[in-house]
Parts: sequence; structure tokens; C-alpha cells
Amino acid sequence: MSDSPAADASPEKKDFIRQIVREDLASGKHRAIKTRFPPEPNGYLHIGHAKAICLDFGIAAEFGGLCNLRFDDTNPAREDPEFVQAIQDDVRWLGFEWNSLRHASDYFSVYYLAAEKLIRDGKAFVCDLSAEQVREYRGTLTEPGRDSPYRERGVEENLDLFRRMRAGEFADGTRTLRAKIDMASGNMNLRDPALYRIKHVEHQNTGNEWPIYPMYDFAHSIGDAIEGITHSLCTLEFEDHRPLYDWCVDNVDLAGHPQLLQPLLDKGLPLEAAKPRQIEFSRLNINYTVMSKRKLVALVQDGLVDGWDDPRMYTLQGLRRRGYTPAALRLLVDRVGISKQNSVIDFGVLEGCLRDDLDAHAPRRMAVVDPLKLVLTNLADDHEETLVFPNHPKDESQGSREVPFGRELWIEREDFAEVPPKGWKRLVPGGEVRLRGAGIIRVDEVIKDADGRVTELHGWLDPESRPGMEGANRKIKGTIHWVSAKHAIPAEIRLYDRLFSIEKPDDESDGKSYRDHLNPESRRVVHGYVEPAAAAAEPEQSFQFERTGYFVADRRDHRAGTPVFNRSVTLRDTWAAKA
Ligand code: ATP
Ligand code: MG
Repeated sequence: MSDSPAADASPEKKDFIRQIVREDLASGKHRAIKTRFPPEPNGYLHIGHAKAICLDFGIAAEFGGLCNLRFDDTNPAREDPEFVQAIQDDVRWLGFEWNSLRHASDYFSVYYLAAEKLIRDGKAFVCDLSAEQVREYRGTLTEPGRDSPYRERGVEENLDLFRRMRAGEFADGTRTLRAKIDMASGNMNLRDPALYRIKHVEHQNTGNEWPIYPMYDFAHSIGDAIEGITHSLCTLEFEDHRPLYDWCVDNVDLAGHPQLLQPLLDKGLPLEAAKPRQIEFSRLNINYTVMSKRKLVALVQDGLVDGWDDPRMYTLQGLRRRGYTPAALRLLVDRVGISKQNSVIDFGVLEGCLRDDLDAHAPRRMAVVDPLKLVLTNLADDHEETLVFPNHPKDESQGSREVPFGRELWIEREDFAEVPPKGWKRLVPGGEVRLRGAGIIRVDEVIKDADGRVTELHGWLDPESRPGMEGANRKIKGTIHWVSAKHAIPAEIRLYDRLFSIEKPDDESDGKSYRDHLNPESRRVVHGYVEPAAAAAEPEQSFQFERTGYFVADRRDHRAGTPVFNRSVTLRDTWAAKA
């Protein structure tokens, strides 16, 4: 599998963001570009984040720029170091490496100085209104808001109150620092938005140093400016926040006031202040999935899935365990493209990306999911031989492997029919079929138990049809896969399918919730047999099990010798026909 984005052979991308970047470099507006991926460490990343990651890191790499990973950890009550680690693992797994790892909390002292500057410039004030009063004063989309009675406080009083907020003198929620912009603005985000709130909560990085925390819009825009981000890419819901983003950047004016960055110099962090530009793109939405963190958390907490990395989850950890490859997810982002148009991508597109990657790269193996014994009675009891199979039919560089063959084989139960339906090409009593790479067999006898269930087939292997023999290419309708019963390794095989059975599990308009739409067939565990070369796999190795699907050795539970395989995706789209 190609593990690095550089190995993705894709033509030059021409979406509107890359065009902006190209123009900015051509005009000399920027000599080099810089982006960032700014997750909030309050959950695991999901497939939607893959789009943002591929865009932020991908654009930086394509244009010789840099991309930072910045944890937006301004909301201490909701954050967990476990997520911080998992997010780093996920970004690296997708094939990207950050220039610098930052936390918004690295900048708390700069944010604080920036806020004092706004106060001194008469552009921010301490407001004593309660949250409820702030809402009342804010107005509505059709009515202007009203000025806070505290809006005209003098600079000295504001500075004194803000310093006392910072000193921890006031209780949570009693005061905020607000930007002084325009209570009549048509954009609600500009109606004197809060810049700081009081929150006596311990922070995982700064402990109890700060009883006040900056609000998202302030912290994010100034964080971008501090890092010298040139293109700050985010999803469309932030479009209405852009005027506030620009207001913060322009009015704090870090480039014109480098002394605000002194706390970072003291910490040894390099200074890169620049004027960033926010550009929005549409989110990735995929049918048959839920992506909101709240719903993903609930699935785990209510035991509807087996944890964050359950192979049916649409977290990156879940997709990884399912057998999704980084290259497949990058391909998805390329295929979906970047625009401002909201759309819902069909789940089949995601599956198609995985099939395309694995078809090209995954070695082939044979595995039997629902075993039925086939005894070749014209071979000696102790007959044993080793056949050599190519690992990949279209890629010689993958070499070959040895596949043991013997008198007793496991074949797929569904490859035999006593009473075949029309057009059947596989085994029937008295009929012939090719055993992949081994020869042509005929079924002579069907053995059944007392209940009439077929327990064993006895057959005859045509000696003239063996590999290298004259009759090896004799025309025959069907070919089936098999494993040698003596050599095959028992394997736990987990047959996964989509977690939800309807296209819009998120749609609650009919009073139902996504939990009502779980696909009861999304996980079926069977015990089958795999050829020795599959059992020897390392965890996370992907294969095409011939005629059966694409499978991956489970990241957690697979051991060489006691194999556990997850079905990543079927060979063909079985849902397109259903829909
Ligand atoms: P959610 O709303 O699912 O909980 P979030 O947006 O709160 O996710 P963040 O950690 O804030 O999660 O997101 C980090 C970055 O990923 C942001 O820039 C955000 O715009 C982007 N992102 C989140 N979801 C998607 C998505 N579905 N498609 C593209 N980008 C996304
Ligand atoms: Mg968010």
C-alpha cells in the first residue's frame, strides 16, 4: 500500500483554494505558505476530519509550505489528553507530519496581552451582564441589539476589572470581556462578542494558572496570526465568523505590536506573526454515517459498538481497524474535491476508493468463510504437494507464495448446490469445476447427516488437468477457491457491513433517532480457514481473499497462528442494487 501522500499519483489539483494559493505565491503576496490543522481535543477524529487534514497538510506539502498541528484547547472542561495522543496518531497514520506541534494554551499569555491592548485602545470592555441578559440585549436576526450598560466604562476601570478577572477574584459567569464592535450589525457575531470568560477549571496543560479562558474566535484568529498562518482553512459554518476573525487580527495587529509576543520569546517559541486569511470549504458528509462527536460518543457509551475503534465506527481509528488504508482516504478526499457546495457523498464512493487501492496493492490469498469438506478420493491418503501462486495477478513485483495442496480440502459451502439455480457455474453432483490453480474436479458423492445436511463431498481430480499438464487449460465454466484441510489455519473472520441501514440515520424528523436505524447485519462473526500465508500476516496487513472480499488482519486481536480477520469491504457494491 502506498503510505505516503507523495506516492499518490494524482494530477495537479485545481480547486478554488489551491488557485488562491497559486495566485498568492505568483503575485509575491507570500513567499511561502503556511497552514494549520486545529482540532479540539474533545473526541476522536472522524472521516470528516480526514478532509480537513488532507487539505491543510496536503496544500502545504504541494506548495513547499508548512503545516502546524494546533490543539484548540481553550475549553478545558471538555478536553482529555487521551484525545491529544490519538489525534497525533491519526494524522501520522494518514501520512502527514506537522512542522510544529502547538496548543492554543501555549499562547494564553499572548492572548491576555492582546486583550489588554484592545482594552487600552478602547476596543474591548468588561461586561457585568449575566449570560441570560447578554442574550436579551443581543437582539435577533431582524432586530438590532442594545448596547450593554457597561459598554462605556473607562479604560482604567476596564483594565482593573480585567486584571481582577485574571487574578481569580470573580465567580464563573459573573463577567466577560467583550469586543466593542457593533450591536446593530447584521452579523450577530459582531454584536460585541465575548473574548474572554471566567472559568475556574483546571486545564490539562496550564493547571490552575488561568481562571479565565479566551473564546474560540479570538483564540483561533490570534493563534493563526502568531504562527504566521497564511491560509486558515476551515469549514463553511465559520463563514459568518470571518468578519470577527478579521476584526481580531486587524485590531490586535500583532505585526505592528511585536512586544505582545514577548511571552513566547521568553518560552523560546519562534515569532512568525503574519496576517492570515480565512477561507471556508464545505464539510465532508457521507450517507449511512453519523459524524458528530456527540453521536459517536453516545454509540460507544451506550454499548451499541465496541469502543471508539470498533471497525464499524466512522472514526479514523475505526476505519483503520476495519482495514481502510490512508491511501484510500486520501483518494476519497481527492475524488470528492474541494468547493463551497454542500453535498452528501454516497457511501459507495468511500468503499470504491478502498477497493481501488486494495485491488491495486493488496496481495491475494485464499480463505474459506463457510467451510465444506471436499475429499479427492483418487489421491493417496498422504498426498501432499506445494503449489506456487503469484501474490498479485497484475503486479509481478509482489512475487509469489507457496500454497499447500492435499487430498482433503475446505471449499465454500455456497459453491455447491444440489439443485442449482439457473445460470449456476459452480459445483453440482456429477458436475465439474476448476479449483483455482490446482486442476479440475468432479463431484461423485454427496455425504449427508441424519438431518439431510451436506457434510462432505467426495470428488475426483482429473490428473490431466493438473498445472503443467496438457489438459490444464481445458475450458470449464466455474472456478472456486479452496484451502488444504491439513494445512489451513482456523481463523476468526468478522464480516462487517455498514453500521446503519438507511441513508440518513441523522434525520430525526420522523421522531426516530439514529439508534433506531442500526443495521442488525453490521457484524457477523464466523469461523473459517485461511491458507498458511494469510495466517502468518502481521496485524493490519490487508489481503484480497479471492472471490470473498478485502480483509485485514485485526489490529488488536490477530496473532500469527491464531488469525483474526476483519472484512474491510466486499468485492462489489452490494448496496447499490438494494437502494
Ligand atoms: P464535530 O462537529 O464533528 O464535533 P468539530 O468541527 O467540532 O467536529 P474540530 O476538532 O473543531 O471538530 O475540527 C477540526 C477541524 O476539522 C476544523 O477545521 C473543522 O472545520 C474540520 N472538520 C470537522 N468536521 C469536518 C467535516 N465533516 N468535513 C471537513 N472538515 C471537517
Ligand atoms: Mg469544533
